[in-house]
Amino acid sequence: MRKADYYDILGVSKGASDEDIKKAYRRMAVKYHPDKNPGDKVAEEKFKEVAEAYEVLKDSDKRAAYDRYGHNAFEYGGAQSSGWGSGGRDPFDVFRDVFSGSGFGSGFDDFFGFGSHGRSGKSERQAGNDLRYNLKITLEEAFHGVEKTIKYSKHVACNKCGGSGAAPGSKKVTCKTCGGTGILSMRQGFFSMQQTCPDCHGAGTKIENPCHNCRGTGLVMEPCTTKVKIPAGIFDGASLRMKGMGEAGTNGGPSGDLYVAIYVAEDKRFERHEEDLYCTQKVAFTTAALGGEIEIETIDGQANLKIPAGTQSETMFRIKGQGMPNLNRPGSRGNQYVKVTIDVPTKLSREQKEKLQEFEKLCNVKSGGFFQRFKEKFESL
Ligand SMILES: [Zn+2]
Ligand SMILES: [Zn+2]
Repeated sequence: MRKADYYDILGVSKGASDEDIKKAYRRMAVKYHPDKNPGDKVAEEKFKEVAEAYEVLKDSDKRAAYDRYGHNAFEYGGAQSSGWGSGGRDPFDVFRDVFSGSGFGSGFDDFFGFGSHGRSGKSERQAGNDLRYNLKITLEEAFHGVEKTIKYSKHVACNKCGGSGAAPGSKKVTCKTCGGTGILSMRQGFFSMQQTCPDCHGAGTKIENPCHNCRGTGLVMEPCTTKVKIPAGIFDGASLRMKGMGEAGTNGGPSGDLYVAIYVAEDKRFERHEEDLYCTQKVAFTTAALGGEIEIETIDGQANLKIPAGTQSETMFRIKGQGMPNLNRPGSRGNQYVKVTIDVPTKLSREQKEKLQEFEKLCNVKSGGFFQRFKEKFESL
């Protein structure tokens, strides 16, 4: 099934500002929230769809990749990647992120009756950050497909405190600032405003004695190694999503994803346009005049190219099916285009020179060539 356009899903134009996108998401998310549409499967799907669209369009890197390659930008993953659903994130987490950062305050959930999804108990369950890794590969590697081992650092759950952030034996205590609600209420005239407690960041609890190893964050930085499977035909600027390979979440939150951004290095021999490859090949001037066959280098070997008699410099020839593999149609390849330039000899033996002069004379006699005509004109003056 064809996936709907992310801009269409949110009902915004391609040029929409970040603020417009956020507004559109808010409007749609409230409209389709399952708590407002109990048992409505269509609304539930819509709710997930808008979260997915928002996750991509709010991130300038992902949005740029999406603008350029559409859904393809995210669909060619390594072994661990699978499809793509709201960036692998729980649509309710996406929803909470947006509304907790808004003027509604973190009390929004309860305020609108959305309390049933996660906020109860005021846990600080948070998804881990997505990571980006820039990986440069050669055109040949892009042609064959390749498996690369990459090394990077990421936050993982601290093994001293099990990711809780509390020192062994220490426990969580109720936040004094907000009395455990995670929310501060303020009154301004007629309006009662709610804001996330700055002391406990809405958790309602604080760690009595923070873990030394992670300074109470529950996370430590650690090097890690992973294998990335790059499919044949991958294009420059593609982004491979490795689900769950990003940073660890906190308090049981899901891990983020790792995005491997692919850069295909420029190649000395070939220029690539989509699935087609372009190259230039010198041809002896005699071959160009008389016709013949030449050997051409292809991305994965060699091919013979017929040069018809009378071929002019800059003529472009097409070798069918010798281009890059097509990611969308396995087994199909683009074409190779060969532009020939005529190779004029710079050093001639005495014999070669004589023969060419003879040839030139023949040309002048037959066609009344330029020099012949020039000479005649000059002599007649
Ligand atoms: Zn507090
Ligand atoms: Zn720790």
